[in-house]
Amino acid sequence: MYEVFTELLAIPNYKVVGSEISEDRVTLDINSTLDAVACPHCCQTSESLHERHRRTVRDLPVSGKPCYLRFVRRRFYCHNCNRAFCESINFVQERRDYTNRYQNWIFHQVKENNITAVQRCEELIYDAIESIFFHEAKLRTPAEPFADLKRLGIDEIALRKGKGNFALILTNLDTAEVVEVSKTARKRS
Ligand SMILES: [Zn+2]
Repeated sequence: MYEVFTELLAIPNYKVVGSEISEDRVTLDINSTLDAVACPHCCQTSESLHERHRRTVRDLPVSGKPCYLRFVRRRFYCHNCNRAFCESINFVQERRDYTNRYQNWIFHQVKENNITAVQRCEELIYDAIESIFFHEAKLRTPAEPFADLKRLGIDEIALRKGKGNFALILTNLDTAEVVEVSKTARKRS
């Protein structure tokens, strides 16, 4: 029944098994298709389910509505190492309540607009959008940002319109990669 949803979801090893659609949001229940996962310490696969934690994360919008993914984060027990481990999840980072692709999408939205505009569309608080923006910026910053840099592009975007909060985005013009993103504040003239 949910094959089309699973295809649209496009997260490897996950399938949609349920949905809840209301006026203001879409929630998709997704399950891993893997019964056994490899232990990160010894690489031996384990099927021994140890614990299950329910999680809900924000994902890209569906038909203009905010979309949330509901899933179970599983802990398995490795009988080789005699300890439990969390299965690794490739679509969301540890301690984040949104997917990697949502973070990437917010980063681009903020770059094109400003946080206040994005905040209105996403119905999230200012600090949440700002934190997502800088997490993605950090992810995009290479370990040696100024190595092999020949031409530097400098962009300044208003984080909060008219309040003097800016983000300075430095880009390597030859590779189009973000080199550094920093927050600046300036008094209004
Ligand atoms: Zn192990």
